[in-house]
Amino acid sequence: MGQLNIGIVGAGIGGLAAANALHQAGHDVVVFEQAKQFFRVGADINLTPNAVRALDGLGPDIARAARASGARPTHRISRLWDSGEETSRLPMSDEAERKYGAPQLTIHRADLLAALADAFPLERVRFDHRAESIDARGQGVSVRFKGQREATTLDVLIGADGIHSVVRSAMFGAESPRFTGVVAFRAVVPTERVKDVPDIAAFTKWWGPSPESQIVTFPLNQGRDTFIFATTAQDSWHEESWTTAGNVDELRGFYADFHPDARALLDACDTVLKTALYERDPLAHWSAGPMTLLGDACHPMMPFMAQGAGMAIEDAVVLARNLADVADPSAVPAALARYEAMRIERASRIQLASRGNQWLKAGGNADWVYGYDAWGVPLA
Ligand SMILES: Cc1cc2nc3c(=O)[nH]c(=O)nc-3n(C[C@H](O)[C@H](O)[C@H](O)COP(=O)(O)OP(=O)(O)OC[C@H]3O[C@@H](n4cnc5c(N)ncnc54)[C@H](O)[C@@H]3O)c2cc1C
Repeated sequence: MGQLNIGIVGAGIGGLAAANALHQAGHDVVVFEQAKQFFRVGADINLTPNAVRALDGLGPDIARAARASGARPTHRISRLWDSGEETSRLPMSDEAERKYGAPQLTIHRADLLAALADAFPLERVRFDHRAESIDARGQGVSVRFKGQREATTLDVLIGADGIHSVVRSAMFGAESPRFTGVVAFRAVVPTERVKDVPDIAAFTKWWGPSPESQIVTFPLNQGRDTFIFATTAQDSWHEESWTTAGNVDELRGFYADFHPDARALLDACDTVLKTALYERDPLAHWSAGPMTLLGDACHPMMPFMAQGAGMAIEDAVVLARNLADVADPSAVPAALARYEAMRIERASRIQLASRGNQWLKAGGNADWVYGYDAWGVPLA
């Protein structure tokens, strides 16, 4: 059992997954979050079988809570935007559980966050702590938070602080995420309103006329609601936000030529959220001395493979496994380098494939993504 003094910046999906895994390994873990509390912001998180398997290993309470609030899509279906032709259909649910050891779960982000937060001692989450500067000269690493004069000194610092990571900038220099020229619309509608759309209990992706144009739908909130996620090219909108309202008429206008089944979903939306999508290139390294990164902090990606949260949870598990038996701070840099070596190739490959948006368009292999076992992959 390790005994390191570990600080995690960011109480998002990846930060809380790592906090649970490292706390269970016996480390002294504190999470620093800039928000004043957990808010019910956002909506969907898609957890494919690889992500659910990683999550399940964090303990039965988390696994139970995720299943209690999430939904289990029956299939993963691809359809063409104009003809409606089905170009691929993978059975999920029980079949995925048999094949990959876990089902796909689609869940509200706040419910997943609550499942992870409830399993971790709340007094170890320091809200209203925005990391501003980091100094890794000498022994360990010190972090200074907004409004505080005294720095906090740690054996290990994990940057789980999302796409605009301050920890990443401190480690590798400041560099802004790139606007992709693509915007995303998110809406949640009662399933009752769209129950006549075929396969409404499945995860369905409508492939548009260009890689940026697509509509994804899946069940949410145990199937009571249906989530709609539509993307399209739009150079003029740059605002990145989980709360900004979009215009439903504009949304419908973008997809006016889509198949009637797809349009019926958009017709059912009363309100919609809109955000610009940003990403970055893969990093050459994630770790430096006693500091490392996970999740969007090191590999923010386009949402087209629905792997953002899954990769963060996989990172958290592999990171914790590499630190599990480390008690001596001088052994930390080597353990973090091993974590990086185990994860960087897979995460970078998925980051680049998400950018291309062709995966599973017309069949293809899902096993290399869904079949990964973060708890079983051999330690480097
Ligand atoms: C509020 C919010 C809502 C979201 N809603 C959705 C959604 O509906 N659908 C979807 O697909 N994805 C959503 N995401 C993104 C999604 O959670 C991530 O892409 C994915 O889960 C990877 O998680 P992560 O832990 O790496 O990063 P994130 O989930 O982005 O978590 C990063 C955390 O770090 C905190 N943080 C950032 N900077 C600092 C700092 N300097 N000091 C301290 N704390 C800091 C943030 O407040 C956040 O809690 C949302 C993210 C956020 C922050």
